[in-house]
Amino acid sequence: MDLLGETGGPIRIAGRELSRDGLLGRAAAVAAEVRGADAVAVHATASLETVAAVVGGLLAGVPVVPLPPDSGPAERAHILGDSGASMILAAGGTEPVDGEPPLVPVDGLPRGGDGVAAGVPGDATALILYTSGTTGPPKGVLISRSAIAAGLDALAEAWAWTPGDVLVHGLPLFHVHGLVLGVLGALRVGSPLIHTGRPKPELYAAAARNDGGSLFFGVPTVWSRTAADPGTARALRGARLLVSGSAPLPVPVFERLTGLTGHRLVERYGMTETLITLSARADGDRRPGYVGTPLPGVETRLVAEDGAPVPPDGQTPGELHVRAPLLFKGYLNRPEATAGSFTPDGWFRTGDIATIGADGWHRIVGRASTDLIKSGGYRIGAGEIENALLAHPAVREAAVVGTPHDDLGEQVTAYVVADGVAADALIDFVAESLSAHKRPRVVHLVGSLPRNAMGKVVKTRLGEL
Ligand code: ATP
Ligand code: MG
Repeated sequence: MDLLGETGGPIRIAGRELSRDGLLGRAAAVAAEVRGADAVAVHATASLETVAAVVGGLLAGVPVVPLPPDSGPAERAHILGDSGASMILAAGGTEPVDGEPPLVPVDGLPRGGDGVAAGVPGDATALILYTSGTTGPPKGVLISRSAIAAGLDALAEAWAWTPGDVLVHGLPLFHVHGLVLGVLGALRVGSPLIHTGRPKPELYAAAARNDGGSLFFGVPTVWSRTAADPGTARALRGARLLVSGSAPLPVPVFERLTGLTGHRLVERYGMTETLITLSARADGDRRPGYVGTPLPGVETRLVAEDGAPVPPDGQTPGELHVRAPLLFKGYLNRPEATAGSFTPDGWFRTGDIATIGADGWHRIVGRASTDLIKSGGYRIGAGEIENALLAHPAVREAAVVGTPHDDLGEQVTAYVVADGVAADALIDFVAESLSAHKRPRVVHLVGSLPRNAMGKVVKTRLGEL
């Protein structure tokens, strides 16, 4: 199938390996099973069976819905009910759940059979991916075959990703990052994939030392753990490219990792709805705190709250809009949300606030809903304050939000995970680098931050701490 390229290397997940032909054989068996279905779910553990199931759906032209394997019953019921999946493909040994669609073991399917659909149109839905649920209930995002192809080709160009690379990651296979970029990307480009089962720095280091890993994908928590473990980090010195995405990469983590590995991380920005949109280039500049420039074929612009265009002066924040062939088709069963997220002239409103410099470099200030604090007439991005806190050696994690304040409207409030430092000392520390209106007025020292399955801080739950 053209979506997956013509040739390619083996794929290994948590120590089990299949050649590309072996994988396609298993996927063809899945295709014969699912052909004609409206949508099928995949119990998306980190396994070869998950990949065979997803590719099988693509071969048959049937939309695939990856289910987070550790999600609670409510999230599972939401995804299964919303998507209308008629079966759940899973590795053998997975326990069926009462009231769910039938469970179909991928391992037991007869080989052969005629499931591969010819001439599936590019605008057909390939995947229904649910968003991470960071700001509300996960939304089903309809992704076409042509969007996947456009996104992966743009990415391969930006990162000079070739069959000679060995991709290493351990990210979840139900999310756009691990599944589309991290599995379909390897299959389309034709590079071998080593999936480490879990995104653990020591497993990445082993893949670098023993298996020729050259291209490493991680989310910021993976890189901050790597930066905290010098021996492991140094094992990545021989890599070609280390990439971070899915959430903001703290500037201090970027700098520590550069010191240990000799690599300046490539940061990229994307969403389930926009796959991947912005990135630094393999052969170009990397700037801590910035997410690069638009990928080939992507247009961006900034818009103020009143709808006026925002100049690309590197200073003035506005809502980031995206127009590109890699955009999603719409939200499943949410016509109003879909209509509301596109402008009449076809731009997608990301809901993220950004600045754009005259040189095209983008900085993500944060989400309009949770990361933009309106205090005393100022608009303050939470990320800058989080970076200032994280620069303190005792601070392990930091999340900043606006909380109601009688006089200021909102006040800057920080939640910090730190070892043996007082809140007042932290306020004094950031006073050295932040102007007065940006300094946190309240610092809560907490044991951990609420995170979702993608490791993202769920800021709407910070008030519960
Ligand atoms: P939900 O839409 O359900 O609330 P979510 O937005 O976290 O969840 P995803 O599609 O996984 O779901 O994440 C996309 C969002 O992640 C972006 O809108 C942006 O806010 C954030 N993001 C991704 N990459 C970066 C980055 N490099 N820097 C800052 N933020 C990023
Ligand atoms: Mg979102």
